[in-house]
Amino acid sequence: MALKTFKFRLYPTKNQREKLDWTLARCCELYNAALQERREMYKYTGKGTNYNAQANQLPQIKEIREEYKDIHSQVLQDVLKRVEKAFKDFFRRVNNHETPGFPRFQGRNHYDSFTYPQAGFSLKNGRIELSKIGHVKLKLHREVLGTVKTCTIKREGQCWYVCLACEVQACPRTPYIDDAVGIDLGVSKLATLSTGDVIENPRHSRKAEKKLAKAQQGLSRKKRGSKRRKKVIQRVAKLHRKVRNQRQDYLHQWSRRLVNTYETIVFEDIAPSNLSKRAKPKQDAETGKYLPNGASAKSGLNKSILDAGWNQFIAFCQYKAENAGTVQVVLVDPKYTSQVCSSCGTVRKKTLSERWHSCECGCERDRDHNAALNIKALWLGRSHQEAQAS
Ligand SMILES: [Zn+2]
Repeated sequence: MALKTFKFRLYPTKNQREKLDWTLARCCELYNAALQERREMYKYTGKGTNYNAQANQLPQIKEIREEYKDIHSQVLQDVLKRVEKAFKDFFRRVNNHETPGFPRFQGRNHYDSFTYPQAGFSLKNGRIELSKIGHVKLKLHREVLGTVKTCTIKREGQCWYVCLACEVQACPRTPYIDDAVGIDLGVSKLATLSTGDVIENPRHSRKAEKKLAKAQQGLSRKKRGSKRRKKVIQRVAKLHRKVRNQRQDYLHQWSRRLVNTYETIVFEDIAPSNLSKRAKPKQDAETGKYLPNGASAKSGLNKSILDAGWNQFIAFCQYKAENAGTVQVVLVDPKYTSQVCSSCGTVRKKTLSERWHSCECGCERDRDHNAALNIKALWLGRSHQEAQAS
């Protein structure tokens, strides 16, 4: 059984929105109060208190502060569980001789979610019924699979979301057409497969990116602290979310397709430790112009910008493979993968601008396709060795 989270946008009415905000504020308050009690106990007695001791005080709290009766009791218990977890993590790091930060008070803007850990919610007719809050409309853009375990309500900027953590069966796989695929991650395109197929970069986010740049320009012209500036900040955040969501959707689709098709997915290992340091820029003595320094496009600043997307793509493939249970994602050393001929194995030095691999052996291929084939071959060689060694 695997745990999988389904996230949906909520469309609360004005009243519901106020109730959500209010509930979140009370939870934050309770979190900080529980933290305060633990901090003081720790300070004076050197010991912490525990979840049960704090949870037993909830009825009293409700007597003194009647408004807490308007929040589902399990939601309040979950707040105390979060404090307990913060402290457990803290003590674990102390025991590991790390230098942990003491659990911190949460600001109103940072504390952005509350959870129904077992009950108090139900999903029906395009709405989710939340105890003490009401029937909130939501956009059910996909089917919820498995059994819902917990329900978390989350605020992101001006939007509200519900995250349903579900226990699901490992996904069944469609039959594969080939057992292994090598993947060369690219700069101008997202990836090239050893089959010769190309995954383009998502283009649809360009439009949103343009809007984003414009909104950000507007930001610098608005006075600090002004209402208008606040509005622009919200718009920028919204556009950021849009770009990110579109990109993620795209990566989800492609990683799903790869995991459904192949048994072994081979990527180049782009972890920073495996990459050589950034090459220094070379300047022409006469003209002062910068010369090509022979550095790969996958190093330097370029790399750090691209990395985020690549890492996410690999991560998406990895967890989908884990869910499927019969697929593996492996990483190989990316050195020379674009220089070696995938047909005869000789090294054919190329500059970055050479997009075509042409070898004396008669091998003619797109540069990235050649690299993808080498990435796949590296894995095949390694698994062959491993098989012989064992
Ligand atoms: Zn060759």
